[in-house]
Amino acid sequence: MTNKLKYFIGNWKMFGDFTSYKIVNKINQYIYKRKGAKSSKIVLCVPNTLIYPFRNKLKRRVIYFGAQNCYQQEGYGPFTGAVSAGMLKKAGAEYIILGHSENRSEGETVQLIKKKIISALNQKMNIIFCIGETYLEKKRGRTFSVIRNQIMSSLEKKFNKNKIILAYEPIWSIGSNIIPNIKDLCATIKFIKNDFKKTFKTRKSPRVLYGGSVNKNNVKMLSTVTEIDGFLIGGASQSAKKFIDIIKNYYK
Ligand code: PEP
Repeated sequence: MTNKLKYFIGNWKMFGDFTSYKIVNKINQYIYKRKGAKSSKIVLCVPNTLIYPFRNKLKRRVIYFGAQNCYQQEGYGPFTGAVSAGMLKKAGAEYIILGHSENRSEGETVQLIKKKIISALNQKMNIIFCIGETYLEKKRGRTFSVIRNQIMSSLEKKFNKNKIILAYEPIWSIGSNIIPNIKDLCATIKFIKNDFKKTFKTRKSPRVLYGGSVNKNNVKMLSTVTEIDGFLIGGASQSAKKFIDIIKNYYK
């Protein structure tokens, strides 16, 4: 079953400073004025340094803020340079991206991701859990098994699934301007939803986003995959115009 609410989640990565507030403000104003905005949820996962100042400054806020990672340990502790989920929540983050392939490629293991998920769940944060295969894995026909492994090794039946949004991000699609063909994408999203339901014995389908080179030109085509519950948008979310154009074209 498809969830009606569509997510447009920006992943700013290592981008932005205080002057980037104008981007956030433009996006917020657009969503505030847009009719039918109720059917979409806009989340900007900005660098930790910007969560509090942006959230604090926005008037008539209708968008949400998120972080892009956290430390696995909860609370406070002697971990130089680390920021816990609780600290991010106090800064105003309601969402958190975990398991992004850019962090996995820096050595983040499935066990570590699981610990991070637990710490964010303990803070009652919404998790955007990234999964996806490499190009080689795709070529070898291993997409489904890779995804299943990523899910099985970082999630557990007892986790609160209402707080977990999956983001299918084929690694070869991130920042490459290449998106999967629609038939493959449709099959993969359906696989994720069905497999998740079977594995964790949930009645409801999980929410599954697509991420990887989403832009204003391909979003209409991507919208034909009705099982997709929204998008995780990297590069294009660093520009108010590009991000707004994606939303506009999606609903056109
Ligand atoms: C991402 O890094 O999560 C992402 C989707 O990037 P891009 O949109 O730039 O491909």
